[in-house]
Amino acid sequence: MVAEAAAAAERVVAELREACAASAARLNEVAAAMEAEMRAGLREEGGSKVKMIISYVDNLPTGNEEGVFYALDLGGTNFRVLRVHLAGKEKRVAKRESKEVSIPPHLMSGNASELFGFIASALAKYITSEEGHSSVFDDKQRELGFTFSFPVRQTSIASGTLIKWTKAFSIDDAVGEDVVAELQTAMEKQGVDMRVAALINDTVGTLAAGRYNDEDVVIGVILGTGSNAAYVEEASTIPKLEGELPKSGNMVINTEWGNFDSSCLPITEYDQALDEESLNPGEQIFEKLISGMYLGEIVRRVLLKIASQSSIFGNVSHTKLKTRFILRTPDISAMHHDDTPDLRIVAEKLADNLKIVDTSLVTRKMVVEICDIVTSRSARLAAAGIVGILRKIGRAVPGDKRQSVVAIDGGLFEHYAEFRKCLESTLVELLGEEASKSVAVKLTKDGSGLGAALIAAAQSQ
Ligand code: ADP
Ligand code: MG
Repeated sequence: MVAEAAAAAERVVAELREACAASAARLNEVAAAMEAEMRAGLREEGGSKVKMIISYVDNLPTGNEEGVFYALDLGGTNFRVLRVHLAGKEKRVAKRESKEVSIPPHLMSGNASELFGFIASALAKYITSEEGHSSVFDDKQRELGFTFSFPVRQTSIASGTLIKWTKAFSIDDAVGEDVVAELQTAMEKQGVDMRVAALINDTVGTLAAGRYNDEDVVIGVILGTGSNAAYVEEASTIPKLEGELPKSGNMVINTEWGNFDSSCLPITEYDQALDEESLNPGEQIFEKLISGMYLGEIVRRVLLKIASQSSIFGNVSHTKLKTRFILRTPDISAMHHDDTPDLRIVAEKLADNLKIVDTSLVTRKMVVEICDIVTSRSARLAAAGIVGILRKIGRAVPGDKRQSVVAIDGGLFEHYAEFRKCLESTLVELLGEEASKSVAVKLTKDGSGLGAALIAAAQSQ
């Protein structure tokens, strides 16, 4: 009986391992498909599921910027208001303050004016509390960078219409509207005298924040609740870019790689079910395989399947196990990193989150393996995406002597050590020992806040 249960569970795990396998050969196909989709997306609007959005950011910060700038960061779990005092090459960021405000869940699916009203009032409160005791206060109109981490169609650096919501947001009346205009109107209603100087995405912000500190940064990647990448493209290689070429010759492209999809992706029955039951079925397929919002949920679905086919979890009520998103990626990470001899943390997580108690050590080891399979696939696919971008811009290829730095932000990359290690080793595996010496990844925190302020600054000078 016990042996049978174990065998049934092991079959589920073996199938998962097989379906998630991402060999180097497979990942090279993924990288090539990513590169091809990027080219198609640059050719014309709607040319690819990978939207390759022109950010209109043609100058990244150099470090010379000076002045006081604000930023708003919307798109993650929390919303943030930020204020920085930039003091030039030597002194850099002389001062920075920020405040985090959580968005009431009902506003995430309400209407646009409520959401933007909430944001503007948080900004107004922040300004009164901060400017009051500021030493650098003067009466210049303040400039603000707005990080809005959802796909937007931009026509200039400070305007853009929302294409669609992703992650936990879904506010119908905002789709198709200019989010800068909505914010500016809401700010006026609150009596905030500030100009939105740049509308950016967290990925572009991460690229900017990375570049501010290291001129070799050419790619910014987000691996947090969602996933996305931005990079510096040669403007002359963007067929869909209309009008004059920017003086710098460069254009930052927000790839929106989360929406990448390809028959070479290793997709399982769990991913398919997750996608079908999601807020955005058929969309953000790459993101659903990679990002922190989903890894825990994929593992939960595997555990539920095991519970339905075997008794290794004992006499468990399926109520918890059937609750979507009850297992979160930080839980997966904690179980994966459990180094206690009897996997005490795994036991705790299973008991606390899923009411699965009295598991055997063998069962707990199996749970760790499931976390490892799901997370390795995610990290390896993220690495393949980065390699696709590097190849697109001729970096880390034979003959290229330049140093290329990838600035990465997001809780998944920052806190999940096994994920990070796997991503880094996969880059070496795909690029080769020699070429990978010219590539570095660098945790770049807070690009979504500081990055927007830096771009607002770079833009105004
Ligand atoms: P956001 O992406 O919402 O802007 P973050 O970059 O901080 O915010 O990323 C938060 C996400 O990172 C969470 O949704 C979660 O998926 C993931 N995360 C946070 N902490 C951990 C952790 N300890 N281990 C693994 N993933 C984590
Ligand atoms: Mg973020």
